[in-house]
Amino acid sequence: MKSSARVVVVGGGVVGASVLYHLTKAGWKDVLLIERGELTCGSTWHAAGGMHTLNGDPNVARLQQYTINLYRELERISGQSCGLHMPGGIMLAGTRERFDWLKMAKARGRYLGMELELISADEAAKVFPIVDKKYFVGALLDPIEGHVDPYGVTHAYAKAAQIAGAEVVRHTRVVDLKPRADGSWEVITEAGNVHAEHVVNAAGLWAREVGRMVGLELPVLAMQHQYLITEDLPALKGQKELLTSIDFEGEIYTRQERGGVLLGTYERAGVPWSPVETPWDFTQSLLPEDLERIAPSLEVGFRHFPTLADVGIRKVVNGPFTFAPDGNPLVGPIRGLKNFWVACGVMAGFSQGGGVGLTLSQWMVEGDPGADVWAMDVARYGDWATLAYTNAKVRENYSRRFRIRFPNEELPAARPLRTTPVYERLQAAHAVFGDYCGLEHPLWFAPSAAEAHEDITFHRSNAHAHVAAECRAVHESVGLLEISNYGKFEVTGPASEEWLSRVMANRVPQVGRIALTPMLNERGKLIGDFTMCRVAEQRVFLICTWAAESYYRRWFERHPPPGGVTVRPCAMEYVGLSVAGPHSRTLLQALTRTDLASAAFPFLSFRRMDIGMVPALVGRISFTGELGYEIWVTSEYQRALYDLLSSAGRAHGLKLFGGRALNAMRIEKSFGTWAREYRPIYGPHEAGLGRFVDFGKGEFIGRAAALEEKESGGALRLVAFSVDAADADSAGDEPIWHEGQVVGWVTSGAYGHRVQRSLALGYIPAALATATDGFEIELIGERRAARREGAPSLDPAGSRMRA
Ligand SMILES: Cc1cc2nc3c(=O)[nH]c(=O)nc-3n(C[C@H](O)[C@H](O)[C@H](O)COP(=O)(O)OP(=O)(O)OC[C@H]3O[C@@H](n4cnc5c(N)ncnc54)[C@H](O)[C@@H]3O)c2cc1C
Repeated sequence: MKSSARVVVVGGGVVGASVLYHLTKAGWKDVLLIERGELTCGSTWHAAGGMHTLNGDPNVARLQQYTINLYRELERISGQSCGLHMPGGIMLAGTRERFDWLKMAKARGRYLGMELELISADEAAKVFPIVDKKYFVGALLDPIEGHVDPYGVTHAYAKAAQIAGAEVVRHTRVVDLKPRADGSWEVITEAGNVHAEHVVNAAGLWAREVGRMVGLELPVLAMQHQYLITEDLPALKGQKELLTSIDFEGEIYTRQERGGVLLGTYERAGVPWSPVETPWDFTQSLLPEDLERIAPSLEVGFRHFPTLADVGIRKVVNGPFTFAPDGNPLVGPIRGLKNFWVACGVMAGFSQGGGVGLTLSQWMVEGDPGADVWAMDVARYGDWATLAYTNAKVRENYSRRFRIRFPNEELPAARPLRTTPVYERLQAAHAVFGDYCGLEHPLWFAPSAAEAHEDITFHRSNAHAHVAAECRAVHESVGLLEISNYGKFEVTGPASEEWLSRVMANRVPQVGRIALTPMLNERGKLIGDFTMCRVAEQRVFLICTWAAESYYRRWFERHPPPGGVTVRPCAMEYVGLSVAGPHSRTLLQALTRTDLASAAFPFLSFRRMDIGMVPALVGRISFTGELGYEIWVTSEYQRALYDLLSSAGRAHGLKLFGGRALNAMRIEKSFGTWAREYRPIYGPHEAGLGRFVDFGKGEFIGRAAALEEKESGGALRLVAFSVDAADADSAGDEPIWHEGQVVGWVTSGAYGHRVQRSLALGYIPAALATATDGFEIELIGERRAARREGAPSLDPAGSRMRA
C-alpha cells in the first residue's frame, strides 16, 4: 500500500468503487481505495441488484438515469460483466389513487425524457403474465428497468479505476482518521498510515463509525431487508425474461432470477439493525431469516401473483443496508472538516451509485457538483438529526417505501421535536402543524379541535375553505403568522459590509434598510436567496431558508469573512411573528411609540423598536403582497408579543394564518422561494431576480457568469400561469406543454384565493417567455389549459405592500 495519496476512499462497496472510478475519470489518478474485507463484503454483495429511473426528486431521477446508462461503458472499459438484464419494468396500481400517482409519475418522466406508458390491467396481464389482474386497475411500463450483478458492477468500477491508475487495497481496516494542520489527513490503517489530501467516507454499513472517527454523527441507520427466491416456475421456461415489477399495494417488488422469481418486500414493521454501533466482524454476513415478519406482505404477494404459491422457496436472504431519514443519499463535503467528504446512506446503490460517484468526483475535482444535488446533499441535515431522530424517521421511511406521499401529507414520526414558545397557544387556536427540519409550524387553522386535521389527497382538501378565509383576512383586514421557521445569521464587525458584498450579489443596504439578494456560486447560479437587514453600521441581520442553514455555513466557511467579522447562525435564538394586511399598521402603531407612517418607516425599512414591553427588530417587508411587518424577538419574548398582538388585534379583525395561505399568497405575487424556484440550476436572470444583482458595486462571487447570463438572456425563464384547473392545483414538478410539446416544468402551484384562480410558477425556454396562449399544465394526467401571466396576478404595481 502506498504511503500517500491525493484521495483515500474508505470502503469498497458499490458506492466507494464508483467514487474511485469517477475520480480517475475526472482526472485524479493518485487515488486509493481501502477495504477492510473483500470488495462488496458490506451490504453490497447480497443486494437484489434491481434498478429503476423513477425518483421523487427529478434531479436524483436524472442521476439514476445516468447510473443505468453507465453499465455498458463500465463493461467496455473493465472487461468485467455487470450481469446487466434490462427486461423493462411494470408498476402495478391496485387503487384509483395509485393510478393517479402513476399518471403523475409518467408526467414527471416526460421532461426527463423518459418513455413511460400507462396501460390497463388487461394489458398488464398480457405483458406480465404472473399477475392476477383482478387486483389491479392499471399499470405503468418503464423500458429502462432491470437488474445487475452486484459483484460484477462493483468489480467493474474497481477494475476500470485501476486501469486508469487507482490502487485498491483489501483486507485492511481504517482504524482512525487524524486531521493535519494543513487540512490533509493521516489515515491510520491496520497495515500502516497513509497521508491523504482528501478522505471519502464510503463505508456503507459502517459510515456512522467512520464518521465518529472525526467527531461526526451521520444520520444513517441500517434496516433489515428480506427477499426470497422461488423454485423455477414452469411457465417461465423458454419465455423472454419477466419484467421487473413493483406491486404498491402488496409493498412488493419482483424480478426473474434464473428460472424462478425474486420477491422482496418493504414491510410495515421494519426492524433496524445495529441501531447504535455496527459490529466490525460482520463481513460477508447475513441475518437470520424471519419470514414471520414479512408474512402479511407475502400473503398479498401470493394472492396477486398466484403462480408463485405453486412453487417452493429456494432461498431467503435477510441483509442490512443503510438509509438516511428521507431515504436519499448523503453526499458532499462536511462543514468544519476540511477535505472530508461523504458518500453514504445510499439505499439504491445500483440505481444511484453511478450518479453519486459522478457528483462527488466533480465536487472534489471542480469544486462544484455540477448539478442540482440538493436532494442528496449531506448539508440538508443539521445537528437536530440525532441518532434517535434518525431511527424514528428511517423506520417510517422504510415502512412507507411503496406508499403514496400526497402533496399535502405531513408524516408523523419524530414529532413534535422542536417547538417555539407559542406552540401551545397555536395549538389551542386549532393549528394544523407541519414539520420543517423537525420544527412544528402552523400550516392552517381549523375552526375547532375536531376539525384540526387534513385529509390527504391529490385534490383540494378540507383545508381549502379555511385557507381561503385566512387569505381573505390578510387581504381585507389583518393576519398574524408565526415566522420562526426561517434561517437567520447575524453578521457583525467592521468589515461586515465588505464581506457581504463579496458573497452576496446585491449591494448591502444602508443602516435601517432591507435589501433582497441572491447568493451565487462561481458559475453564476443561485445557491441562496437572502434578506439583508442592516441594523447598524457593523451589524447585518440575514434572513434565509432554514433548511439550508448548514449548506450556507459550509459555503461561508469556504469564503470566510476577514478577521474581526463574525457570522453567527441564530435561527432559533430569534423567533418571529408577522402581521400582514391593510390594518397591520394601525394594529402595530397602537403598540409602539416608533412612527410607522410610510414617510417615517417606508417599505423595506428595518429598525430596533419596542412593541409594548418587548424589544424587537421590525422589518417592513411583505411576502404576502399586502402591507406587512416582520417582528423578530429573542425567544423569551415571543409569548408576550403574541399575547399583545392577539389582544390588540381583536379590534382589527386579526386572524391567524399559516404556511398554506402564505404559499398561495406569494404565488399570487410571483415571489419565488428557495428549493422550488431558486436552485443551483438557474441563474438570477432566468429566475427573475436580475434586479437584485448589482453589477455596479464591484467584484462578487459569480459576477462574471451572471453578467454573461444577463447579456445572453439565459436559456430559461421563470413565468407564472393561470391554470384552468378543476379541483386539483399544481403541487410542483408537473410538465408544462406548449402547442403539443413538453417545454418546461412547474416549480410551485396553489389556488390563489385572492384572485380566485389556480396558479402555477415554472420554467420554460426563454424563447417562449413572451407567448401567452397555447400552454397546458398536466394535472393528475390531464392536460389543463394554462395562460402565461405577464405580471403577478395580484397587485402587479406592488402598491398594496408599499401603501
Ligand atoms: C437484501 C438487500 C437487497 C437489496 N436490493 C437492492 C436492489 O435491488 N437494488 C439496489 O440498488 N440496492 C439494493 N440494496 C441496497 C444496496 O445493497 C446498497 O445500496 C449498497 O450496497 C450500498 O453500498 P455501499 O458501498 O454504500 O455500502 P457497503 O456495501 O456496505 O460498502 C461499504 C464498504 O466499506 C467497507 N468499510 C467500512 N468501514 C471500513 C473501514 N473502516 N476500513 C475499510 N473498509 C471499510 C466495508 O467492508 C464495505 O465493504 C439491497 C440491500 C439488501 C440488504
